[in-house]
Amino acid sequence: MNRQERLRQLPKVDDLLRNPTVLELIDEYPRPLVLDALREAIDVWRARLLSDEDAVYDEASLLDDAQRRAVLKAQRSLRRVINATGIIVHTNLGRSVLSERATAAVAEVAGGYSTLEYDVASGERGSRHVHCEELLCKLTGAEAAIAVNNNAAAVMLALAALARGKEAIVSRGQLVEIGGSFRIPDIMRESGATMVEVGTTNKTHLKDYEAALTENTGVMLKVHSSNFRVVGFTKEVGLDELVPLGAAHGVPVFEDQGSGVLVDVRQWGLPHEPSVGESIAAGADLVSCSGDKLLGGPQAGILVGRTHIIRRLKAHPMARALRLDKMTLAALEVTLRTYIDPEIATTEIPTLRMLCTPQAEIRARAKALADAIVARLGDAAAVDVADDVARAGGGALPMADIPSAVVRVESGAVSAVELERKLRLGEPSVVARIKDGRVLFDPRTLLPADEATIVDRLVAALDGAE
Ligand SMILES: *Cc1c(COP(=O)(O)O)cnc(C)c1O
Repeated sequence: MNRQERLRQLPKVDDLLRNPTVLELIDEYPRPLVLDALREAIDVWRARLLSDEDAVYDEASLLDDAQRRAVLKAQRSLRRVINATGIIVHTNLGRSVLSERATAAVAEVAGGYSTLEYDVASGERGSRHVHCEELLCKLTGAEAAIAVNNNAAAVMLALAALARGKEAIVSRGQLVEIGGSFRIPDIMRESGATMVEVGTTNKTHLKDYEAALTENTGVMLKVHSSNFRVVGFTKEVGLDELVPLGAAHGVPVFEDQGSGVLVDVRQWGLPHEPSVGESIAAGADLVSCSGDKLLGGPQAGILVGRTHIIRRLKAHPMARALRLDKMTLAALEVTLRTYIDPEIATTEIPTLRMLCTPQAEIRARAKALADAIVARLGDAAAVDVADDVARAGGGALPMADIPSAVVRVESGAVSAVELERKLRLGEPSVVARIKDGRVLFDPRTLLPADEATIVDRLVAALDGAE
């Protein structure tokens, strides 16, 4: 066949629309989406027929390709995945998982009208700030509070309100970068504050701050070194020293606490992570943190502190640009309410529950998962349980090894890299780790019913592999 003859074999989209397979696709997916998939599949065949003299058109293969394309086009981009990594606050996988009650509250206000800015008692306009402010004050001991879009926004708002056109003093040991685009010097510049660096990378003394104070100092900023530690010959100035200095000079002390810890994590054998309440008790005038790290709520930036400062933040034009939506507010309010009884918080808030589950319980869950895998896979894979280490993630508790356990799977027929890829590309996607040529599943970050899904997905991934 010459080129022209080969190309003439190609069907028109209209011809394909009479094909039963295509009609089934149109039943299942939006028609425009199926048409796009068919056009793409035809284009692929046209290119093949043009480039390869021996190519023979095959309609079944074109329809297969079109079906695959339709399925991919119909798949939501933002969708659930199973986190088997043992990294609890996994930033790429959406950080904290909301509690069931928080999730239900989000659905309720999203699917209906709400009291977002409406005061039911008076029938008049209300403020969206009221939903979380009292709770935040109660849980941290602060006088006032405001929540914004995320902690980066919180720091930006605080610096803009307290130090635009003024100086902001910060230790050289705290000029951190967190998660790529949050860098203290950049946020400083964008907020309009002039950064005044004091001390050195490893040591900063109170006298360094003292010497830097001027008429034009707007704030002294302290940044919690969330995702790294400086060890050895080091000195940082604590709030115990910084607060009296600020008070003597009328300069507010602002601490970016980062992780949003509201309880004492030492009770679960973890290293001390200063809580927001501890910073307030130590006299910080303003403290910021994330809502979706160790706090275990939705993405949000929380600012707690003195009434006159919070009032300035609320009145700042940027506050409107950074404000929270009703769904986030609903999730944050319910999450904070859960903390009223810390015991309930540790059982209901998934991030806290995952943090505090004892290793023995994780081992037992790993054993049960391994047994379930063996029951279905037989000897298609080598499966065992081993102790391993989980991580808090999200730049929190960076030095903490959380004793955990994992199920290790090794298939004779499929490499670990290939098995991990198959699990990741399936629906739902299962995200697992690879170590020493084996695929690892840590039950610590699994949610109820995830285990059964993992077993099904493993069977599907290894099906016909031998
Ligand atoms: C995580 C973190 C941030 C950024 O918070 P986001 O909520 O991700 O915007 C800022 N400062 C510190 C100390 C952090 O740990």
